[in-house]
Parts: sequence; C-alpha cells; structure tokens
Amino acid sequence: MTAMDDAGTSLKIPITPLVVVSSTAGAPLMAGSPLTVAAALQRAVQMLSSHGDSPRLDAEILLARILGLSRSALIVRGADPVSAETQAAYDELIAGRMQGTPVAYLTGTREFWSLEFDVTPDVLVPRPETEILVELALGLLPQDVPLSVLDLGTGSGAIALAIASERPLVSMTGVDVSERALAVALANSRKLGLMQVEWRAGSWFQGVRDRRFDMIVSNPPYVASDDPALERLAAEPALALSCGPTGLEAFERIIDGAAGHLNPGGWLLLEHGNTQADEVARMLECRRFIHIRSHADYSGNARVTLGAIHQSPDRSPHKEHQ
Ligand code: GLN
Repeated sequence: MTAMDDAGTSLKIPITPLVVVSSTAGAPLMAGSPLTVAAALQRAVQMLSSHGDSPRLDAEILLARILGLSRSALIVRGADPVSAETQAAYDELIAGRMQGTPVAYLTGTREFWSLEFDVTPDVLVPRPETEILVELALGLLPQDVPLSVLDLGTGSGAIALAIASERPLVSMTGVDVSERALAVALANSRKLGLMQVEWRAGSWFQGVRDRRFDMIVSNPPYVASDDPALERLAAEPALALSCGPTGLEAFERIIDGAAGHLNPGGWLLLEHGNTQADEVARMLECRRFIHIRSHADYSGNARVTLGAIHQSPDRSPHKEHQ
C-alpha cells in the first residue's frame, strides 16, 4: 500500500508489531467491567509514564483520536464507559507509543502552523520550531507581490503549504528526493486545498535545474551521523535527519547551489541544529551572501540562519551539486 492509498483512512498507518499489553503494565483490567474514559486515560498515563516527555498529553491525544473527540471533551465524558473494542484499539496505540513510535505516526496527523498535516513514517514529523522558519519567510514575502519560493527537502510539505496558505500569490515549489515523501506532500496539498504548490522529485536542485526563485527555504537533514540523539529519533526517516558525519553536508550542497538558483536580491533561509548557526553563517559569508543573521527558536536556541544574494545575479553556468 502506498502513502497515497493510506491518505483517506482515519488511522493512516498499520500499527505493527503489537506488544501484548500485560495486566501488570498498568492498572489491572477487570473482566466484565468496562473502564470509564477517565480510568482508561489514567491507566494509559501510568503505562506511558516512563516513555517520552508528555505521557498525559500523548494518552489524551490517542484516546481523543480513537473516540473522535477533542481532548477537552474527554474530561466532560470522563464517566462514560469505554467499549471493549475501543479499549483494544487504545491498547494498540499505547503499545506503539511504548515502543517509541511518535504520536503523530500513530494518529497519522500533526498540526503545524494551525493546519492539520497527514504524516507517515516516510516524512519527518513537523516540529514547532520550524514555524520560526515560516514566520521569517513570511516577513520577507509581501502579501501582494507574486514571488517564487522553493522549499528544498519538503517532506510532508509543511513549510511549503504553510507559506502557500498565507501567500496565495506566491508560486511555490516543493522538492524532495523521496517519492514517498512527495506522495504525502501531495496528499496534504489536496487535503488543505492548496493545489497551487508544484511538487518535484530530485536531490536538492536536481528537481529544478534551470530555474531561479526569489526565495529558497529548507529544513534539511542536519544531525551528525554519530549523534546519539538519532537513537531517540529512530522512528523517523534517517534520510530526513542526517546526511553525513558533520551534520553540515546538506548546508554545503544547498548554499553552493543557491547562487545559481536565486534571483538577484533573493533570500536563502535555513533551519539548523542549535550549535550550527555560526558554521552556517560562515558558509553563507564564504558564498558572498549579505544581510546574514540568525534567529532563535522558542527555547532561545539559534535555529534559523538567513542571508540574501547580491543584487547582481551569478552569471556563471549552473553547476549541479549531487
Ligand atoms: N529538529 C530535528 C531534531 O533534532 C532534526 C530535524 C532535521 O534534521 N532537519 O529533532
């Protein structure tokens, strides 16, 4: 089954393999007496207590999803009984979470920029800090000018679609090397009614060889391949997280190629790791970008660095960087 086939179902991915939930893992289940919503939730919170940073939030999101309710409605319905079927489905999701599957893959969705995105294990789960990149891009894109923007390594399409939702006149292109990721991005553009975005397959600039844009944005893979943090991120596509030993390899490719794909005065905006700002700024300087600056995320870490290309375009023949 392809990601596209999955797109219309409420739970987007099969949850396998299942862990048999033993009665010692949480409060024991009493045969014949269904749990209430509140008790099922409490039991799940206990089971998730040593898995992840937000056991209650995760337990609530998963139960709300199964019951088709909002999280706040769970409180109102606290005394309602939970059917055996619902409890079984809930146990499956809780087991998946205990195995380290991100909540977004279990529910098949994640909110980003107040839009609901479909996500599958073929794409990175959109992160709140990436909204900083969107905010900065929008600050540089006037409402009433039909500019062109390229999103490199678009994944679920979160950045491209968030910008498209705010700037209907922008001609937006999303590129990804993964066809499966592009299928998710396309499904998201349909779901959100943002069909003006063009999706292209290719490694970095290969998908847009002979084209120039007014802005290039990217949240590329930037985790160093020996970073122990990758273990925690093992459920997400390795391709989207890391592409070399330093974690800076993708920036080299993008910054090297950007001059040949930006219009005069065009901007390049890059999300990076919280220790990479100086290095990324230095690379931009070496490529003669101007107005270089970094911006912090909500935790105060420098997270996005941007720069503009000189007014006079790079007239050298386009070099492609694989
Ligand atoms: N921000 C992600 C994390 O470390 C990494 C995303 C990326 O490599 N682009 O959780």
